[in-house]
Amino acid sequence: MDRQFIISYQIDETLYLNITNQCMNQCVFCIRETETGVGYNLWLNKEPTVEEVLDSVKNPQSYNEIVFCGYGEPLSRLEVVKGVASKLKEMGARSIRINTNGQANKYYGHNIIPELAGLIDTMSISLNAQNATVYTEICRPADGENAYFSMLEFARKCVGVIPRVILSVVEWPGVDIEACETIAQNLGTEFRLRKPTL
Ligand code: SF4
Repeated sequence: MDRQFIISYQIDETLYLNITNQCMNQCVFCIRETETGVGYNLWLNKEPTVEEVLDSVKNPQSYNEIVFCGYGEPLSRLEVVKGVASKLKEMGARSIRINTNGQANKYYGHNIIPELAGLIDTMSISLNAQNATVYTEICRPADGENAYFSMLEFARKCVGVIPRVILSVVEWPGVDIEACETIAQNLGTEFRLRKPTL
């Protein structure tokens, strides 16, 4: 497949922003591991600037939701997320979500969530497992089992700061969906079960 430079793509009424290919995890079900992914080639020749991302969004107010996701972890580019989200809000974006692995606080060494208050409407965090052992097997984080606990702490800190917080789980062998749902309930977040994209 030819290398392209797809920064944004639309599925139904949602616009997805692809701002990085970096990630601290290597999940077994990651669309990066598939040939077709979401149907677009999202490998970037270079990471886009704030201006390049904004140029790719023509009418932000026309989407139900704009989502930072991509073939990587959006919060590994925190300044770009903040710059783009702030401008999109000014331009009338109705709702902005980040799909994240929840390891940003660990990555930056401090709590970055307050920096996103007022910019991000929904934080969707990949829980993916009922415990650190299963998480490590499925998500293969660079930081080992610590990554699981960082992710849970990130979710806890989002509650009350970001209006909507979702813990998501991909249906996968070894994942105890009920136990994951209980974790979400105990943290006070919503819960979402997803199908793998493989
Ligand atoms: S956290 Fe997301 S981008 Fe990173 S490897 Fe897992 S599924 Fe892929």
